[in-house]
Amino acid sequence: MAETTYDVVIIGGGPGGYNAAIRAGQLGLKAACVEKRGTLGGTCLNVGCMPSKALLHASELFAAANGEFAKLGIEVSPKLNLGQMMAQKDESVTALTKGIEFLFKKNKVDWVKGAGKIAGPGKVEVTGEDGKVTTLAAKNIVIATGSEPSRLPGVEVDQQRIVDSTGALALPEVPKKLVVIGAGIIGLELGSVWRRLGAEVTVVEFLDRITPGMDAETAKTFQRALTKQGMVFKLGAKVTGAKTSKKGVTLTVEPVAGGAAETLEADYVLLAIGRRPYTEGLGLESVGVTPNARGVIETDHFKTSAPGVWAIGDVIPGPMLAHKAEEDGVACIEMIAGKWGHVDYDLVPSVVYTSPEVAWVGKTEEELKAAGRAYKTGKFPFTANSRAKINHETEGFVKVLADAATDEVLGVHMIGPSVSEMIGEYCVAMAFRAASEDVARTCHPHPTRSEALRQAAMGVEGWTMQA
Ligand SMILES: Cc1cc2nc3c(=O)[nH]c(=O)nc-3n(C[C@H](O)[C@H](O)[C@H](O)COP(=O)(O)OP(=O)(O)OC[C@H]3O[C@@H](n4cnc5c(N)ncnc54)[C@H](O)[C@@H]3O)c2cc1C
Repeated sequence: MAETTYDVVIIGGGPGGYNAAIRAGQLGLKAACVEKRGTLGGTCLNVGCMPSKALLHASELFAAANGEFAKLGIEVSPKLNLGQMMAQKDESVTALTKGIEFLFKKNKVDWVKGAGKIAGPGKVEVTGEDGKVTTLAAKNIVIATGSEPSRLPGVEVDQQRIVDSTGALALPEVPKKLVVIGAGIIGLELGSVWRRLGAEVTVVEFLDRITPGMDAETAKTFQRALTKQGMVFKLGAKVTGAKTSKKGVTLTVEPVAGGAAETLEADYVLLAIGRRPYTEGLGLESVGVTPNARGVIETDHFKTSAPGVWAIGDVIPGPMLAHKAEEDGVACIEMIAGKWGHVDYDLVPSVVYTSPEVAWVGKTEEELKAAGRAYKTGKFPFTANSRAKINHETEGFVKVLADAATDEVLGVHMIGPSVSEMIGEYCVAMAFRAASEDVARTCHPHPTRSEALRQAAMGVEGWTMQA
């Protein structure tokens, strides 16, 4: 016998699940969110976006104090207190996860603690830590169980010497030599943290470029910037084996194109080759939902093949990003509530929170060329931006791609200071289908880095004034 009946039961309390739950509460739906971790917030708040940004922020300041401060006339000799750096990260994470608990109470969402399992249409069984099973009756079930780090055969993650992103957020010491396997966003962000704190960092990447999906010109500039900071890249190389001892790891690395293998010694290895959807023990078979070969649950506007069962976030196709999961969650609940939920996946921005930062939205040049779409380009370097210049942060550029005939902005690619905070301007512009001229003729405050966004837009029509 089911004990409680809900309009919607959401399994997973990450950015997809908790935002869905809050929106459900706002719309007057009786909602429960089942989460098996001891805290809400999912990967993002507990072991993803937030702790990584806490360490990126702290390590960036440490690196600045170690070099750039002196150039500004501030003489200091910083000393690393890794324990305190980790403690302040953990405190922030706790405050954030508690914040979600507060939002659940505010919006009358029940947090059902435990592992959720679909036990047939409209039924979710929750097994608590004490082993007690509660059955929830649900008119709608939303799967929001997220993702987990992908594994690599021959490289066993022990969270001691070979760590995944979760382990890399809590290393007990600064590695002397860190090898990062995978030159994606997570690997480069966490590699940057440890590089700034003093580790020698080598990144091994299977492809012949870093950060697949990023505009190629931007990626090249980005790689150059990271190389200048001391990161070493081995591209077109694959790790084929790892031998762990108490002191470290010996990796076997082979060129993808063939040739002699070499060995790399490291005291720590970070495996960061991507993430895969997580649906373990979820009881999908009880409602006849089968993930595809990559473990992804395919949906039609969040509807799975089973009536009343929906899926959002990292378990469904699309970029594995917190803000995308959030958009999915809101749209899915609005559809459940009989409204028009909609997500424009072309307008999901991507950001790398290194220094310089990288941010982009819309199409890359490569995508436009492949689609045969005629486009014009406007580009503006931060060396010509006055605010960046006085702050000594002149690395990078803003590039705007606009339709050759209509001038509609199709893609924007930025590398430079604070671009994570500025990409939203173009997301809004593109949501309103702005022409580059709309941005070019919009007054921007001086002196700010955001003027570079306008100058780049002016460049589309060939009238950049400040470079
Ligand atoms: C190191 C790192 C840095 C990142 N940085 C960023 C960033 O800067 N920006 C960004 O946008 N994205 C970032 N991401 C990605 C982001 O964290 C994910 O895209 C996002 O968390 C996905 O949200 P989700 O709700 O789909 O799933 P998740 O956040 O993974 O949440 C799923 C939740 O479901 C729970 N769960 C799973 N199965 C069950 C079950 N059967 N019963 C009960 N609960 C269950 C899990 O415990 C988990 O808490 C980062 C990820 C990592 C690892």
